[in-house]
Amino acid sequence: MKPVFLAGIVLALTVTAAIGAAGTGAGGNVLLASPPTKGDALPVASSSETEPTNTNIKSIDFADLIPGGLLKARAELAFRHLQEDYFQWGSISRVNFQPFPGDAIGRTINGLTLLSQALHQPTPVSLQEIMRRVPELANSDGYLGPKLPDSRANEDVLAAHNGYACGLAEYALWTKDPTATESLKRVVTNLFVPARGAIACYREKSDAAAKVNWHLSGGDIGQLFLLLDGATRAYERNPSPELKATVETMIARYQKLDLVKISAQTHAMLSATRGILRWHELCHRAEDLAFAVSLYRQYRDLAMTETYENHNWFNRPAWTEACAVVDSFLVATELWRFTGKAEYLADAHHILYNGLLPGQLRNGGFGTGPCVGALDRKGQLTVRTSAHSEAPFCCSMRGGEGLARAIQYGYFLDGDAVVLPFYCDSTATPRFADGAITIRQTTRYPYDGQVRVEITESTVTKRKSLRLFIPPWALPGSVSLTVGGKQTPLALVDPFATVSGLSKGDVIELAFKQASGAQGSLHPAKLPGARRYFHGALLLGASSSSVEPTKPILDILDPAQKVAPESPVVLFLGDAAAKPAGGNQATPPRQLGRQRHPL
Ligand SMILES: [Zn+2]
Repeated sequence: MKPVFLAGIVLALTVTAAIGAAGTGAGGNVLLASPPTKGDALPVASSSETEPTNTNIKSIDFADLIPGGLLKARAELAFRHLQEDYFQWGSISRVNFQPFPGDAIGRTINGLTLLSQALHQPTPVSLQEIMRRVPELANSDGYLGPKLPDSRANEDVLAAHNGYACGLAEYALWTKDPTATESLKRVVTNLFVPARGAIACYREKSDAAAKVNWHLSGGDIGQLFLLLDGATRAYERNPSPELKATVETMIARYQKLDLVKISAQTHAMLSATRGILRWHELCHRAEDLAFAVSLYRQYRDLAMTETYENHNWFNRPAWTEACAVVDSFLVATELWRFTGKAEYLADAHHILYNGLLPGQLRNGGFGTGPCVGALDRKGQLTVRTSAHSEAPFCCSMRGGEGLARAIQYGYFLDGDAVVLPFYCDSTATPRFADGAITIRQTTRYPYDGQVRVEITESTVTKRKSLRLFIPPWALPGSVSLTVGGKQTPLALVDPFATVSGLSKGDVIELAFKQASGAQGSLHPAKLPGARRYFHGALLLGASSSSVEPTKPILDILDPAQKVAPESPVVLFLGDAAAKPAGGNQATPPRQLGRQRHPL
């Protein structure tokens, strides 16, 4: 395979003229591209791009989407796993309960709730039991574990209740269960809101902070700010001035922390970023979007691996953690939703197919793996990835959340347009004020640039359009769009091909060739001359660094394999034919800082 430097390809899609009704006219394809640039990483927002833009792109309800293909298979695998013994009440109610009350229970509620909806399954029996019995564990103030001092300044307990708040909020949204809603209100009123004063001086060197006397978490530095995710979800369900003030105090304090200097945990940082983005959507504060953009850039520049996973802490690339990988996928997609900038979508595709999905284990769980591109404990550069080690007390549930959201993110609405930023077999019924349309999608993506969309039902009275993402790895000049079998001129807006005037029976087919070959590392300044090989969005791996890779790590680490997978080389140094100096596989730790299952 002849190496092709594709990393710097930027599709300058300047053809914005609207086309007429779908199916009319025929013409050539129009796709303008700037020349490829060697060795650069894929584009990401520059500092000049922090100005928020106004988009009105909305996700659709789980109820209106029936998944298929790869994402359905992976979600079903996770769903089955999260109903196994470890996640049943008798076990999960004890997992990490002493140091982190509510964490494992809440993550399980969250994962099962979202997967049940994504897969159109009834409430699992195990989830029903968890919801019935979890009030037994609450103290008289309604939060879990022993009562805290008035300051509530216990980072472990507050961070643990992020999982609980996320689970209760999603369960209440899904089932409208008044008990879950009431439990969430009590956690907010008696734990989160009273912590506001302590949060204002978190890790501060001041008299006020000394008086508060924070109990800080040990290894999970900065995990207090996980709470931004759960607290904003709680606010979405039950807004109150007191919770608003608490959230805004937390964001203000977070802005003052130097996350790199304190070697903050990146999972907490990315969960916090999700909360900040949700706050931007709820309260329309432009500065929150700019802050979220800066947090994501800091993460991408300093703590993202060459497989689009994470260093568990800034400055400490000890292992990856699926929780953070899930959050980075969600944050990248949400940043596209709020800014319209396609470079975030490119990141989201790379994270999904090279980080999140290859990180799923054969039992359906998720956990930790090696940080490709970083030095291991022996000071050797990690060039191999590998099957991950499960962290069932933590990551397996969040992996379920990531898969459920990946299914949901298949379709968005932007006014009268249906937007497809990812491709996967599925059927969706997006709803508008004047009716609904039903779309059946089949695709060979990410292996081939081929998507077929059929409009099987339509009750709308006004014109609707369809926008199909053209990723940056589509080869210039190769994009073809047909409606009813007829070539259609491309109307390209911010790398989306648009078809207007959708009608029942329309069959729309998009095809493009995907770039294949070598590109630079994600961090070329740190790893000059290093290369990775891609086919489209798929990162390729080989059994050794002297072999040019042809197989996606998505397939090498496919959990459906019967035999244990090899640990593929994905980062190539110097001459491809030469063995890289010091290349070695890091050994991921078998467990995170938290305790394992106590049974
Ligand atoms: Zn985790």
